[in-house]
Amino acid sequence: MKEEELKQFETWQMRLSAYQMALALIGIDKETVAPEDGTAYRDERTAVLDGEYYRIASDPAIYALLKRMKEDETLDHDTRRAAALAALYVKDMSHTLCVPQDEYVAYGRLLASAYPIWRKAKQHNDYASFAPVLKDIIAAKKKLYSYRQSCEDIYDQMLDDYEPGMNRRIYDDFFEKLTERLVPLIQKTVRAEQIDDSFLYQNYPVEGQKAFMKDLLQYVQFDPSWGYQNETEHPFTSWTCAGDCRTTTKYLPDNVISAILSTVHETGHAWYRHQIDPKYDGTILAEGVSSGMHESQSRLCENLLGRRRSFWEYNYPALQKQFPAQLGDVSLERFVKGINVTRPSLVRTEADELTYPMHIAVRYEMEKGIFNGSIPVEHLEEAWNDLYEKYLGIHAETAAEGILQDVHWADGDFGYFPTYALGSAYASQFMAAMEKQIDVDEALRSGHYETIMTWLREHVHHYGCSLTNEEILQKAAGESFNPAYYLQYLEEKYSRLYQL
Ligand code: ZN
Repeated sequence: MKEEELKQFETWQMRLSAYQMALALIGIDKETVAPEDGTAYRDERTAVLDGEYYRIASDPAIYALLKRMKEDETLDHDTRRAAALAALYVKDMSHTLCVPQDEYVAYGRLLASAYPIWRKAKQHNDYASFAPVLKDIIAAKKKLYSYRQSCEDIYDQMLDDYEPGMNRRIYDDFFEKLTERLVPLIQKTVRAEQIDDSFLYQNYPVEGQKAFMKDLLQYVQFDPSWGYQNETEHPFTSWTCAGDCRTTTKYLPDNVISAILSTVHETGHAWYRHQIDPKYDGTILAEGVSSGMHESQSRLCENLLGRRRSFWEYNYPALQKQFPAQLGDVSLERFVKGINVTRPSLVRTEADELTYPMHIAVRYEMEKGIFNGSIPVEHLEEAWNDLYEKYLGIHAETAAEGILQDVHWADGDFGYFPTYALGSAYASQFMAAMEKQIDVDEALRSGHYETIMTWLREHVHHYGCSLTNEEILQKAAGESFNPAYYLQYLEEKYSRLYQL
C-alpha cells in the first residue's frame, strides 16, 4: 500500500466525518432549539449537505481503494478493520446505486407521499385508506432488493441490513422462546393481585421534576464536560465524538417516572458513545455499532439499573423531597413495585418491560408474513389483532392503537423492529456476566455509577465496532448470543413481584 493511498484514505475519512458532524449538529439543533421560521432555508441547505455527504460516502474510487486496503497485510489491524468496514458501508451504498436512478427517485417520492396518508389514516382510524400505499411500498421494496441479485431471502437481507449477521433462523428461535415462556407468564401476572401504581400519575409540576433531574444527571454522571441534555417531543441521543454527546428528554406533568427513565435510557446511549476508544473518533469504528448493541446499553441502564431497588435506595429520598405531598407517604418498597408494574397494553412505546418484547414479536411475525406472502396486505389488520390477542390477550378497538401506531412501515423500514427486542436480551446477558465480577447493587446504593460504567467500558464500549457483536459477547460474557438470561431475568423478576 502506497503512502499516498493511505493519505487519500485519511483525507476521505476526515471529509466524511466532517459532513457527519455538521449534519449531526444541524439535526440536533433542528430538533431542540432552532426557530421555526428558518425551517425552509435550513432544510434546503441541509439537503445540499446530505447530497454532498452521499457523494463522498459512495465514491467508487474509494471503494476500490478500501478493497485493496482490507487485503493489505502491512497495515495495522485497526486500519485494515476500518477499511473492511468502510468497504461494507460503501457496498451498502452500492445497494442503492445498483437501482436505476429514476426508480430510486420514484421510491423516495412514494415514501414522501405515504407519510401524510399514514398520518391521516391514523387520525381517522382507517387502515383501508393506508393499505393501497403500503402495498405499493412493499412492492417497491421487493423490486429494489431484486437489483442486488442476492440469492438470500429478501426479508433475511433486510434483517441483516439493520443487524449484521442476523436472519430469520436466529430470530425465529429467539421469538419462539420468548412467546413460549413469556405468554404464560404474562397471563399469570394478569390473574394475580394487581399492584397499585396510581401515585406515579398525580400532578407533578415540571419545575420539581427538573430540579430532581439535576440530581439524577449527577448520579448517572452525565458530565457537562462531555454531555448535554435538552428537551424534545421524542427523546433521542446524538453525538459528534466521544467528547460531545447530546441527549434529550420529555417531561409529562402527570407522570413522575417517564422523564426519569427516558433520561436513564438516553444517557445509556450517550455513555456507550462516550466510552468508545477516542482513537476511533471520526472513523467508522466509532460510528458503525449496530442498533441492537446500542439499544442493549440504553435498556441495560433503563431497565436493569433504573428500575432496580438499589438505584432508588440512593435516589428516592431526593425525589420524595421534591414531591412531599405526592410521595411523602409512599414507601420505597411501594415506589419500586409501582415503577415495575406490568399490564398488557396496546401501544408499543408505552409498554412495560415484560410485555414489550411481545409487541415486537407481533411485528416480526407480520413482517415475515408480508414478505413470504402468507399475509395479504388487505388482511394485515386482522392478523395484527389476532396476534395481539394471542400474545397479550387484548386487541385494538381502533387502528390508531393497532396497526397504524408506528410510522416504520410508512417509512419503508422493515426488519428494524426485531433489534429492539434483541437489545434487551443482550443487556441481560451482559448483566449476568457483570454481576459475577462486581457488586452492582452496592455500586448503585452507594452512588458509584462509574463502577458499572467502567465495567461496560472495558467489556463492551471501548471496542466500538472493531469487534462484531458475536465477538463482544464472547469476550464480555464468554459465550454466543443466548436469550436464556433474558428469559430467566424476566421470569424471576415478575414471579417475585407478583408472587406467582
Ligand atoms: Zn434507545
